[in-house]
Amino acid sequence: MKNSAIVIGAGIVGLATARALAEKNYHVKVFERNEKCVGASVRNFGLIWPIGQPSGKLYQCALRSREIWLNIIQKSKIWHSNTGALMLAYNDDERNVLEEFFQNNCDTRDLELFTNQQISERWKTVNPQGLKAGLLSKTEVIIDPREAMNTLTDYLNECYGIEFYFGKTINRIEQFKVWNGKDIYEADQIFVCSGSDFETLFSEEYKESGITKCKLQMMRSLPINTTGSDLPALCAGLTLSHYASFADCKSMEILKQRFENEMPEYVKHGIHVMAVQNGMNEITIGDSHEYGLNPDPFDRAEINQLVLQYMSKFTRFENLQIAQTWNGVIPKIEGQTEFIFSPQRGVTIINGLGGGGMTLSFALAEEVIATI
Ligand SMILES: Cc1cc2nc3c(=O)[nH]c(=O)nc-3n(C[C@H](O)[C@H](O)[C@H](O)COP(=O)(O)OP(=O)(O)OC[C@H]3O[C@@H](n4cnc5c(N)ncnc54)[C@H](O)[C@@H]3O)c2cc1C
Repeated sequence: MKNSAIVIGAGIVGLATARALAEKNYHVKVFERNEKCVGASVRNFGLIWPIGQPSGKLYQCALRSREIWLNIIQKSKIWHSNTGALMLAYNDDERNVLEEFFQNNCDTRDLELFTNQQISERWKTVNPQGLKAGLLSKTEVIIDPREAMNTLTDYLNECYGIEFYFGKTINRIEQFKVWNGKDIYEADQIFVCSGSDFETLFSEEYKESGITKCKLQMMRSLPINTTGSDLPALCAGLTLSHYASFADCKSMEILKQRFENEMPEYVKHGIHVMAVQNGMNEITIGDSHEYGLNPDPFDRAEINQLVLQYMSKFTRFENLQIAQTWNGVIPKIEGQTEFIFSPQRGVTIINGLGGGGMTLSFALAEEVIATI
């Protein structure tokens, strides 16, 4: 007889865990409190983003997840774009970081340095004014998380027979059993992948871990006309200072110092700006980072304004009109890239992936399940 498992949460961490379990021949049930996935996993940019991960274990983890994504994308026809990420430099300090990163990593990552002229010839939506150079990383994949999460759920059901129970909150776990109201379900292994909900299950354990929340503000435009379909995810200096992968560059210190001196309001709101085109030619734009266990439910127009102002320095989208704004909340433990914890026998919490869940979950879940 097959071993059985229950996964709580149908965000990307829950789905990746369910997949890894099914690959190990478990019979899997997934419980999700909402009628469909509405958490961080549908509120993000949809970037599978190895470029943000530091070299070593995390980068390898991102590449393995990417491999799994591409395999599923191919089988399930999820929309995607393999156009990579283009990081743009408009100051000498930004160019120094890009060049240093390229020197340090060109043997192990798929990177190409471009001059300002080469960029202007190839990508008309990049602002040529003041542009110094750009670095294209070719491993990044864009999906549209709103479509991808639904299709992924259907795929897991059809391909592995994973059963989904939507609209069912699990409010108690004990002795290999979970409770949805009066209904009880049993399994050999239970996985809690509850994202930013630390309150319903194991709240004491979450409190002791030092985990907190981070609110990110986002926007999406109406469809726009672009001159080509090969637009990579676009970003500039602020993004370099955000991701751990660039932290080893000695030239980073000068860049960070300049941002603190010249753009304190961006530093204060944790703003770095990316512009990502989806299959409907809409541009997803963000974001900011505001930490605390009780994120402000109200979005601030001033933050979105700062994001758009910065984006206009490196893009040239004609007649860009914002159609939607929203926020997403991610769990985060300072200095940790994940929170894996067993609060009782047969129960594992998988959480705390911060801003890297779409990039890391598939491989992380495989790693965790291998130890069970
Ligand atoms: C604005 C934004 C942009 C981002 N951009 C990127 C990006 O481009 N690339 C990237 O790699 N990462 C990105 N991230 C991070 C990524 O989205 C998250 O790391 C990831 O989605 C977290 O997944 P999760 O499954 O832990 O959480 P969630 O997606 O929030 O899923 C948790 C689920 O658990 C359910 N749940 C909780 N408690 C219970 C319960 N008791 N019973 C039943 N169900 C329960 C919830 O309803 C929820 O659906 C971004 C995040 C945000 C917010």
